[in-house]
Amino acid sequence: MEPMFTPALHRQRHQFVIDFVKRKKPKKVLDLGCCECVLLKQLKFHREIELLVGLDIDGAQIKKKMHGLAPISTDYLQPSYDQLRIELYQGSVTEKDARLRGFDLVTSIELIEHLTLADVELFSEVVFGYLTPEAVIVSTPNSDFNPFLPGLVGFRHIDHKFEWTRAEFKSWAMKVCLQYGYEVELTGVGQAPPGQRERVGFCSQIGVFHRLGGKEHYNMFDEDAEDVFSYTLLYSIIYPSLHDNNILRRVLMCEVVYWAEKLKRRWIAEETGERDDTDDLCQAEGEGGECFRASERHVDTEETQTAACGAEMKTLVDQEEEDGELFWRHGKPDSDKWHRCVSVPLAVLWCCCPKVSVLSGSVSNLRLLLMDEPGVKLSQDGSAMLLDHQEQDLDDDDEEEHRADLEDSPYAEARQCPPSAEPEEDWEANV
Ligand code: SAH
Repeated sequence: MEPMFTPALHRQRHQFVIDFVKRKKPKKVLDLGCCECVLLKQLKFHREIELLVGLDIDGAQIKKKMHGLAPISTDYLQPSYDQLRIELYQGSVTEKDARLRGFDLVTSIELIEHLTLADVELFSEVVFGYLTPEAVIVSTPNSDFNPFLPGLVGFRHIDHKFEWTRAEFKSWAMKVCLQYGYEVELTGVGQAPPGQRERVGFCSQIGVFHRLGGKEHYNMFDEDAEDVFSYTLLYSIIYPSLHDNNILRRVLMCEVVYWAEKLKRRWIAEETGERDDTDDLCQAEGEGGECFRASERHVDTEETQTAACGAEMKTLVDQEEEDGELFWRHGKPDSDKWHRCVSVPLAVLWCCCPKVSVLSGSVSNLRLLLMDEPGVKLSQDGSAMLLDHQEQDLDDDDEEEHRADLEDSPYAEARQCPPSAEPEEDWEANV
């Protein structure tokens, strides 16, 4: 049999909610009668939502698919500043629970017709009188439309306790508005055949309720409310976000190490005429030759950026050091193993790499962050990152020469800069 609606009616109902979310950008969304979390799974991609909650009386339905709400690998690999917490509860819409109060949007899609009329009264009181969300979307079958549904005898679902005509739905909606201080717009999804639309309305009727009086109205209820917790938490997940300092540090460190290494290689190639082994770097990062060619444009852009940064780094170092020497050696003066280092000024890293500047906020924040990183070597004054170039044995003459260099150099003792007693800026407060 040909499907009657394209897209399918349940998809159109969910799309109606998604369109509303796109327009109104609610931060806290609660889906009542969430069943197998189909709507929640679509809503989680709307990252202006910070708290997404589902409630259903049937815990087994929730548990079937709830793990599909977990973050996917890109959420961990490329976390954004968006914050998202998802919670799923088992419980009845006829009972109160203080954790679900104060939401921006509550949805009830094809739920109320599963309740007895007495429970619909409780639903109204709980949702509109106690949870008091700013907006509520309620969808329910429109029985005026039923004659157009081929082969339908009785209700559309065996568990339905009633199916309202448009007049009945309107009467309930108006009563709720009067009693709890809302206004409603009646609409729907699933068009009737041409010529019948006025007479029968939509297949699924939808009421979009808005609370009158904005936030103040909610606060009035809030003060008098008792804290009731009647639902059971079944699932809770917090998505990785750059608001989490540990995650921010990890992402920033990856960027810093990547760019510092890239700048070092570019600069060495320019100064020494050695081969620029950017290709090797890409290989090391798991970008094969084919992949490198496929993303040539991206690599080109990155190369241009690195080249520009390299030039800037050189200028800065030339300004700082009279002879503009590229390599500094460090290690214990009596050791026969010396490390050749490349100094990458933090100011260069900060201004050449947009993500580093955005994530750290300022050069001094970047310095404070790097001081705490065990794998990072900073110059004595903390102004540059020292990257090992290669380990090599030095003959006595070389050693003498470079020991003299080191004594005059700001990098004489290459080590992690001790945290200063009074940092210039509060790194935590600046990001
Ligand atoms: N909203 C979903 C599913 C609708 S089916 C969708 O759009 O596809 C109705 C759902 O309401 C079922 O999962 C059922 O378990 C749930 N339900 C029924 N009575 C309930 C109650 N008193 N409290 C909470 N959920 C209830």
